[in-house]
Amino acid sequence: MNSRLNEIVDSGLAHVYTMFEAHPEMKKLLRDMSFAVCSDLGSVSPEHNLFPRLLAEKGVSFFEANFNAILGQVQSLDADFQIDCSEGCSYCCSSHITVMPQEAFNIGLHLAQKWGESDFTALAEECLETADHLEKTTLKEFTQNYFQPCPFLKENRCSIYEVRPILCRNWISTDLDACKKSFNTKNKVTVPQNALIMVQKDLVFSGQQAYLAGFGIKGGIGSFMPMLAQILTDFEGSYAKWLSGEKLDGQM
Ligand code: SF4
Ligand code: SF4
Repeated sequence: MNSRLNEIVDSGLAHVYTMFEAHPEMKKLLRDMSFAVCSDLGSVSPEHNLFPRLLAEKGVSFFEANFNAILGQVQSLDADFQIDCSEGCSYCCSSHITVMPQEAFNIGLHLAQKWGESDFTALAEECLETADHLEKTTLKEFTQNYFQPCPFLKENRCSIYEVRPILCRNWISTDLDACKKSFNTKNKVTVPQNALIMVQKDLVFSGQQAYLAGFGIKGGIGSFMPMLAQILTDFEGSYAKWLSGEKLDGQM
């Protein structure tokens, strides 16, 4: 693994390392796991016309396999650990969501195949409104004050469940009351999360980002709605720009 990839993985996991300052063995394990994500992508190349879908699917399969193992570990350490999430519970779906670009492209492909033209156009307009709002503020202010139901939330259920971002899959709460309070205060109350569970998505983010850097592609995460707005309004153009090394709107 060259030093550039090391640098990208370490920078992606920097905030995770701070959680495990006192546990160097844990830091090493998480770093190795992120490199495992990167190595696992060896057969996925930008020449394949389903490149974003293949990356997104690889991310989800790594995440799910890993998640169950970590969840088992957390439960063996804390017998009282319980997950409060359930079908139809959706207070968390009004939070700011960040995605990997490949996830946003995959969702764009999914919508083009499954959604009718009028729903697709309405969604693109909704995403553009959010993107417009972001243009008038800083990303930090935008993310701190973001509070609006996700446009994919329909009757308290996710309408893109099979392609939902990893961040949504990883958003697990042990305290439903805290989720309600957070919702009622427009996300001004923090929902307590288990540190080990929270890092699952970061392993995938930093590993895939390092892999994309090998092709000169920017793989940093970004704000879901602005990124999706660009993809829905011009899929081919934004895909070509991304492959040529440019960032997408909202991408950090
Ligand atoms: S994170 Fe909170 S709001 Fe979201 S499903 Fe779980 S308990 Fe419900
Ligand atoms: S994509 Fe689905 S799970 Fe994620 S915030 Fe939107 S509705 Fe909720």
